[in-house]
Amino acid sequence: MKEKPKILVVGAGYAGIAFLKSLDEECFRLGDFTIINKNSYHYHSTMLHKVATAENSGKIMFDLREFLHPEIKIIQQLVLDIDEENHTVTTEFSKFKYDYLICAAGFEKESFNLKGIENAVFIDSYIQASRICEIIKDKFTKALENGTGLSIAVCGSGLTGIEFSASCANMLKKKLEFYRQDSSKFDKFSVNLISSTPRLLTFFSEKISQKILKNLTKLGVKVTHNTRISSLEKYRVNFQNGGYLDADIIVWTAGVRGASVVSQSYIESERGRVKVDSKLKTFDHENVFCIGDVSAVSDGNGGFYPPTAQIACEQGEFLAKEFKAMLENKDFKEEFKFKSHGVICSIGHSYAVANVLGFEMSGVVPAFLKTMVEKKWNMKLLGLKGLIL
Ligand SMILES: Cc1cc2nc3c(=O)[nH]c(=O)nc-3n(C[C@H](O)[C@H](O)[C@H](O)COP(=O)(O)OP(=O)(O)OC[C@H]3O[C@@H](n4cnc5c(N)ncnc54)[C@H](O)[C@@H]3O)c2cc1C
Repeated sequence: MKEKPKILVVGAGYAGIAFLKSLDEECFRLGDFTIINKNSYHYHSTMLHKVATAENSGKIMFDLREFLHPEIKIIQQLVLDIDEENHTVTTEFSKFKYDYLICAAGFEKESFNLKGIENAVFIDSYIQASRICEIIKDKFTKALENGTGLSIAVCGSGLTGIEFSASCANMLKKKLEFYRQDSSKFDKFSVNLISSTPRLLTFFSEKISQKILKNLTKLGVKVTHNTRISSLEKYRVNFQNGGYLDADIIVWTAGVRGASVVSQSYIESERGRVKVDSKLKTFDHENVFCIGDVSAVSDGNGGFYPPTAQIACEQGEFLAKEFKAMLENKDFKEEFKFKSHGVICSIGHSYAVANVLGFEMSGVVPAFLKTMVEKKWNMKLLGLKGLIL
């Protein structure tokens, strides 16, 4: 009997999981599928700010065995190298041969070689987000015991920085109320968001930016605009304009890049992102595909689509169709085309701003829509059960 082609997926984020969850029984009969991930679980990366602030809202982490097809081999190891010439992936413990590789290793922090970056913490994985949560809890308790305060600096005002700041300010307020602290003390506990731009999230209109600022301020977040960071020290953020901000915790949210396993391997990439064609294949290797944050898909205007969970899921689903056709020896003429449905940014638990299909909105409706997007993903993983998690 002819041996089944070995299809190896690296990374159990949105892209890798969307691919595997979109395959059907016929695919598993014809192909041999393996996933290698450094953890035994998948998590909602878009909800990591909630892990960092212990915001309790739905299930965030899922055991891979809980929802993957039993035919898929699951290897929990860290991939160290991808050798496209010899069709081999090397992990910390072993080597794996493949006929087709799907690299979906996702994002990690981009530090831009900033001096003193080691003094910051990052929201770039479930483990790191949990660590931030522990650090905040610990420093908060000590601040109460010593009668001092707590200053948290959030460097970078993209989606992650804004969602984290809002969630963090909420958490501090709730904790202070829980410990029955006098409201005069609240000012000593601050979240400071440092933004390099004159207004927040410039892809929204001026009006929506103002709403974001208003709601952040209402939650107690202090926003500093137009300020570039020059370096970090243990408890200080230095600005290019000569100013500085002292902080007990520095959270770096100023950028992401593709996972380092890509830049460390021989695949040609820029900031860990590999250019792919309309079939999501890399240009140099016929049997290597990149999806999610490690891929760079042309937007048709000389640039690339920004890496998001939305495009990662669509790529995974598209690639599943492509593999099904390939395994069944059928022609596959379709090309990957991305059309963004929009973007939603939550500011606290029940408020969000959004641009959905070109319409801007704010308030509880986009907050609800964001929850629905999360539930939809849960359902993709677990079926109807996912709706109530
Ligand atoms: C706080 C936050 C909020 C966000 N909000 C939004 C939003 O509202 N909307 C949106 O569209 N996007 C949002 N994003 C971006 C979105 O999360 C990413 O674009 C998305 O997660 C990319 O999916 P992925 O599958 O490519 O990678 P990931 O989700 O990063 O998954 C990659 C997987 O690969 C594994 N891995 C990495 N390296 C290795 C290795 N060497 N060996 C083995 N395994 C490895 C990782 O452990 C991980 O499980 C947000 C991101 C953050 C951090």
